[in-house]
Formats: sequence, structure tokens, C-alpha cells
Amino acid sequence: MLKIIKNKLEQGCRTSPYPKQPIALYERYRGRPEISRDCDPVLIRQCAEACPQEAIDPVKVTIDLGRCTFCGLCEMLSQGRFVRFTQNFELGTASRADLVTDGGAYADLASHAKQHFKKLFGRSLQLRQVSAAGCNSCEADTNVLNTPFFDLSRFGIDFVASPRHADGIHVTGPISLNMKAALLSTYEAVPSPKVVIASGSCSISGGPFYGSEQVIGDLGTLLPVDLYIPGCPPHPLTTLHALLAFFK
Ligand code: SF4
Repeated sequence: MLKIIKNKLEQGCRTSPYPKQPIALYERYRGRPEISRDCDPVLIRQCAEACPQEAIDPVKVTIDLGRCTFCGLCEMLSQGRFVRFTQNFELGTASRADLVTDGGAYADLASHAKQHFKKLFGRSLQLRQVSAAGCNSCEADTNVLNTPFFDLSRFGIDFVASPRHADGIHVTGPISLNMKAALLSTYEAVPSPKVVIASGSCSISGGPFYGSEQVIGDLGTLLPVDLYIPGCPPHPLTTLHALLAFFK
């Protein structure tokens, strides 16, 4: 027992000070992109053609973060002259259109949050996670929010087992045709008013399965999505920031 207490005193508090204090991520993390709009159009077109997600629009010079898997190919190809990924992990948006970025100012999520959601769920938000054919990356990086480092429950946010105990659903995966009925049944089982969160490029656009006839791809075509959390998978801090900015 004394050993445990000694160990605890030596280790101190391991919970992240975010959001009270900023947090630095590892060097190779790819977050919000900086886009050079005055880059050579030939180079932009080359990047657009190489992008496996067709996320780059060479005419409007934009990147669709709902499709992008942050593979870094465009940054590597252009050697940072067209795109350079920053370590800014605050990527969540309240509208699908806001995920298409030209590298300019990003829509402020907090100001787009629905005020009645903040009132209803600001102090307590219970979510049911639905993996609609996810590969388990998004699920694993969501699960990690329950570890002592992130300690999601200190904000009054928890994942629950039953949709009947939930205030909303958190959907990951490209929504295979086989999962469609289960997803809709889970949504129906959540009492109103309820929230819908699309997490990861798969649930936003199909991700790497984009264009497959075996997936729905875009959760927004099935249900009214309130919050989009891009990434492949979204970093736990991206999810944490989005939940806090939107509901708190
Ligand atoms: S980082 Fe995104 S935009 Fe760039 S090539 Fe990869 S998927 Fe396409």
C-alpha cells in the first residue's frame, strides 16, 4: 500500500492540462493545412491528380478535409510549396461546407454551436458510439479519451452502452450497406432531442472507400449531422476540442 502511495506521489497528476493550457503534438502530426494559393498551377494540378481521395480542387485551390486522409502526399510532392500541414488539431466544424478550406480563416466552431445544445448538454453529454463498418482506428482513438491522460468524463461527457441512455450518436466508419439498418435503429432508439456526430473521413465522405457502391459514405445523406470531426482517424484532441467547443 505504501509503495502505491509513494508511486502515486512520484508520478503526480498525469491528466493533460488541455484545454486550460495549450498542448504540443509530436512533430510528424498533420493537422490543419496551410495552402499557398499563389503556387504554380501546374504543381497544384499534379497534387490534385496524385491525391488518392480526390480532395484537392485545382480550380478553386481548396482541400476538402472531409475527404482528406492526411496522408501527406501533396505536401511531399510539392515539398511544402503548395500545402504544408500544421500541428493545429482544432478541425471540427458544424457544417460540411466548412470542411472545404482554402487555407484561410477557419469557421469558429464555438460560434456555430447550437445554443440549445449547450443548454441541454453543456453539463452532461452521454453518447452512444456506432461503428458503421469502421476499421477500428477512429474507434481506438475515441476510446483513448477515457484514459487518465484525456479523462473525458471530467467534462461530463461519457460513452454509454445503450442508445436509450444516450443524448446522441457518435458515428465512425463508412456505413456499409449491412450496417445501415443497425445505425438507423440506434438513432431511432435515442430519445429526442438528440445529436449526431460524424467522426472520421469515412463517416463524412466514405474515406478510403469513397465511391464504393457498398458504402453510404456520407452520414449527412442519412441523418441530420450536427458536428463533423475530420481526420483518418481524428486525433483524440481533435475530438476533445470539437466536443468542448460545440457543447460547452
Ligand atoms: S494529404 Fe489529403 S489532400 Fe493531400 S494527397 Fe493526402 S488525401 Fe489528398
